[in-house]
This record gives sequence, C-alpha cells and structure tokens, in this order.
Amino acid sequence: MKDTVTIVTGGSQGIGRSIAEFLAAKGGDVVIFDIADSSDIVQYIRQKGQRSEFYQIDVSNFNMVGEAVDKVIKDMGRVSNLVNNAGITADKLLLRMKEEDWDRVLQINLKSAFNCTKAVVRYMLKTGGSIVNISSIAGVMGNAGQANYAASKAGLIGFTKSVAREYGERGIRVNAVAPGFIKTRMTESLDEKSRETMFKAIPLGRLGEPDDIAHVVYFLLSEYGSYITGEVINVNGGLYM
Ligand code: NAD
Repeated sequence: MKDTVTIVTGGSQGIGRSIAEFLAAKGGDVVIFDIADSSDIVQYIRQKGQRSEFYQIDVSNFNMVGEAVDKVIKDMGRVSNLVNNAGITADKLLLRMKEEDWDRVLQINLKSAFNCTKAVVRYMLKTGGSIVNISSIAGVMGNAGQANYAASKAGLIGFTKSVAREYGERGIRVNAVAPGFIKTRMTESLDEKSRETMFKAIPLGRLGEPDDIAHVVYFLLSEYGSYITGEVINVNGGLYM
C-alpha cells in the first residue's frame, strides 16, 4: 500500500476501523470520513508512521462529500482507493417499517456510495484506482426484517458491477465484499438464542472478526487483486455458499 491514499467511510469503529488500521499497517495513508469522532484512530495511525486525516461528515450528504474529497486531494495530494463502508440498520418487518426507516437506510447505505464514488472517480480517471463497496450477506440472500437494509446492500452490488464496467478501461477497479455476521456493535444486540441458531448454521462455527473483512479488502485494493473487477466476495464462514 506504499504511497497510496485510501478513503474509508465509517472508519471510527467496527469493520471500517479494522480496514483503516490494516491498510495503515501495510504502509498506506488513510483518510476517514465518519459522522462520529475518529480522531483517536487518526492519532494511532500517525503514531505508526503513516499519514492520516479525519473529516467529520455525513456521507449521505452529496455536497459535504464533494468538498471533503477536494480537501483530501489538497491535503494528501491524491486519492488512490475508496472503501464505501459506512452503514446502518433500521430493522422491522415490512408492514411495520416506516417510510423514514426505508429512506434513512437507503440514503446512508446506498446513496453515500454514489456520492463518494462519483467524487473520487473524477480524480481516478487520470490515475486509476480501486474501490471496494461493503455489501452484506443480506444483500445476496435477503433477510426477514431487513427489506430496507437488504435492498440497499443488493443495490450496492448492482452499483459495483455498473461502475466496474464504466471505468475498467480507465484503470479503475470496483468490487464488493459481502460479510456474513461479524462481531461489531451492529451485531452485539443479537440475543443468546439467535447467536446459538446462527453458530449452527455457519459451517465454520463462529462469527467473523472485523479483521476477516479487512484482509479481503486489502487483497482487493492491492496489486494482488489487480485482475479482479465487478466481483462480489462472500466472507461469511460458509453461511451462504
Ligand atoms: P458499525 O455500526 O460498527 O460502524 C458503522 C460506522 O459507520 C460507524 O463508524 C458510524 O459512525 C458510521 N456511519 C454511520 N452513518 C454514517 C453517516 N451518515 N456518515 C458517515 N459515517 C456514518 O458497523 P459495522 O458492523 O462495522 O459495519 C460496517 C459495514 O459493514 C456496514 O456497511 C454494514 O452494513 C456492513 N456489514 C456488517 C456486518 C456485521 O455483521 N457487522 C455484516 C454485513 C455487512
């Protein structure tokens, strides 16, 4: 990752934080876009010897994202990679789901990827680049109680393949990673019974760690993934195969 600058959205905690730390450990500079304070991780990355910046923005806001990407170019000199990771859930069965639950999840999980990708591709046209969108097993299989979330994550897969087709010849690769159940704040609310049922359904018999996702994202962003574009990599312990 030497001499690369990667923007990671939602990098203040969970999977995004793991991705940011792992890319920095591999020698890359990292910029975090998050609505929550991420100064501690920026300090951590700087102490490890890499450059790092944090912009506190809502990635579903088109104008804020455009301005933040311009600042990245000014401060860091380039943008080599983008990881669209920020996401939320607002789970309810369809009949109980409010219009605002639908809109908020689609805005933050899907529109944010449009905002960030459009803003970085302008620069990547000259330099090439690599983009990874964090989808979900729910976007591949569907999940009761997550019609909004699954639609946003399936939308990310269509988005990934379309942008990969549009800009492949300009040296821009676009891929998606579809995590299964990973140990983060998003899954800690699962009760004991749901956890047990889950473990039985996962051939590898455990929840994933955030690093399990970070390693695959690194692979896709790095030279090791240089002939892969428009792909969706499932990282789920075999829950879906
Ligand atoms: P998390 O809740 O721990 O972290 C999400 C991050 O996104 C937080 O730092 C949060 O502040 C940030 N964020 C939320 N809204 C934002 C906004 N509007 N603007 C900027 N930042 C915002 O979640 P996680 O489990 O680490 O999930 C990361 C990604 O992985 C999400 O897209 C999620 O859908 C996906 N995913 C997670 C799992 C899992 O089991 N944890 C499974 C499949 C997919």
